[in-house]
Amino acid sequence: MNIHEYQAKQVLKGFGAPVAAGVAIMKANEAEKAAKSLPGPLYVVKSQIHAGGRGKGRFKELGADAKGGVRLAKSVDDVVANVKEMLGNTLVTKQTGPDGKQVNRLYIEDGADIDRELYLSILVDRTVGRIAFVVSTEGGMDIEAVAEETPEKIVTVAIDPEAGVTAADVAKLNDALKLSGDAAKDGAGLFPILYKAFTEKDMSLLEVNPLIVMENGRLRVLDAKVSFDNNALFRHPDIMELRDTTEEDEKEIEASKYDLAYVALDGNIGCMVNGAGLAMATMDIIKLYGAEPANFLDVGGGASKEKVTAAFKIITADPNVKGILVNIFGGIMRCDVIAEGVVAAVKEVGLKVPLVVRLEGTNVELGKKIINESGLNVIAADDLDDAAKKIVAAVKD
Ligand code: GDP
Ligand code: MG
Repeated sequence: MNIHEYQAKQVLKGFGAPVAAGVAIMKANEAEKAAKSLPGPLYVVKSQIHAGGRGKGRFKELGADAKGGVRLAKSVDDVVANVKEMLGNTLVTKQTGPDGKQVNRLYIEDGADIDRELYLSILVDRTVGRIAFVVSTEGGMDIEAVAEETPEKIVTVAIDPEAGVTAADVAKLNDALKLSGDAAKDGAGLFPILYKAFTEKDMSLLEVNPLIVMENGRLRVLDAKVSFDNNALFRHPDIMELRDTTEEDEKEIEASKYDLAYVALDGNIGCMVNGAGLAMATMDIIKLYGAEPANFLDVGGGASKEKVTAAFKIITADPNVKGILVNIFGGIMRCDVIAEGVVAAVKEVGLKVPLVVRLEGTNVELGKKIINESGLNVIAADDLDDAAKKIVAAVKD
C-alpha cells in the first residue's frame, strides 16, 4: 500500500525526522488559512498523488508553459493563485502514464532554502537478505538516470538486523553523502530514525528524494515516498487509515475484496492462473510470443466458484482486454471448480473476446466436460506453449 507524501512526512515526524511544517487541503477555499498558518516568506504547493516526478510533471488542462505539480510561492496570494490553478486538474508525470492523475489534494508547505539535494532510500535488498540504505549525492533528479550513467555515485549500506544502524554505518552514510558539521550530526540522528520507522511500520520502501542540506547547514526530509508491506498491514490500523482508494486501480480494489492476488498491467491479454509462479510463467510466455499481459492474477489454491467468477468478471471488465487465457494446473485447486466459475461468469457478463483454456491436473476431465457442455466458444489448448500461441494469434486477428 502506498500513501501520500504529506502522510509519509507525518509518519516520519512521529519518529522524530526533520520535516517542514505544512497543511494538506482538499478545497481551494482552505488555501489562504493554510498558508497564513505557515511562517513564510517562501511556500511550496505540492500535488498529492501516488506518483513521483511531480515537479517536472505537467497539467493536462493547462498549457505547456504552465508550471508543474510542485510550485514555489512567494506570498499567501501566490499560494492561493497556484492552488486555484492546480486543484482538480490532471497531472501527468513520468510515473503516472499518459492518462495522468487527478490532483484532489494539495500540500502547502513551509519552503526551505536549499544548499544541496541528496538521495536516500531504504529498501529490502534481496541480494544480501538485509534492509539497506541506498544513498547518493545526486538527489532531486531522476535516480534511475544516475544509476545508469554514473552508478559509482550510488552507495548501498546494508544493515545488520541484530546491530541496527551502527556508528560505522552512520559514518559510511555521512561519508557517501559528503555531510559534515551540523549536517553530519543531523545524519547521525536521522539514519537510525528512518530505519526504525521502516522496520516498526513494516515498510517495503522509504524514499527521500531529495533529502536536503539547507543553507543553514541542517538536514530536512523534503520529499517522502513510502510503501508498506500489505501482508503486515493488519498490524498497523493507524497506517491502514491512510489508505486513499481514489489513488488505486478500481480493478485491484475489487480484487482485494475477494482476496485475489491481482495486479493490473498495460497489455491486452487477460490472464487467470492459479499459483504465483505459474502466473509469472504465463505472463513470460505471452511476451515471448509477442503480446503483452493485461494483468497478473493468481486465483490461489483453494479458490471457490464465487472467487473464480469474481476474478473472471474483473478481467472482462477491463476494456483493454482483447483475449483471455485461463491457465490452470489443478493441484489443490480443482479444474472443475475453475470451469464452473468461468461458465458462471460468462453466463452473467457474456464473452466478447476469444477465450483460450488450458486445464491440467486434478479433475481435468470433469473440468473439460463442464466447459464442452456449456456451449461456450472456447479454444482448447493442450499445454502452456500451445495456449500462449493460440491466445496471441486470436488477439492479433
Ligand atoms: P517530485 O518532483 O514529485 O519528486 O517532488 P519533490 O517533493 O521532490 O519536489 C521537486 C523539487 O521541487 C525538489 O527537488 C526541489 O528542487 C523543489 N522543491 C521542493 N520543495 C522545495 C522547497 O521547500 N524549497 C525549494 N527551494 N525548492 C523546493
Ligand atoms: Mg522527489
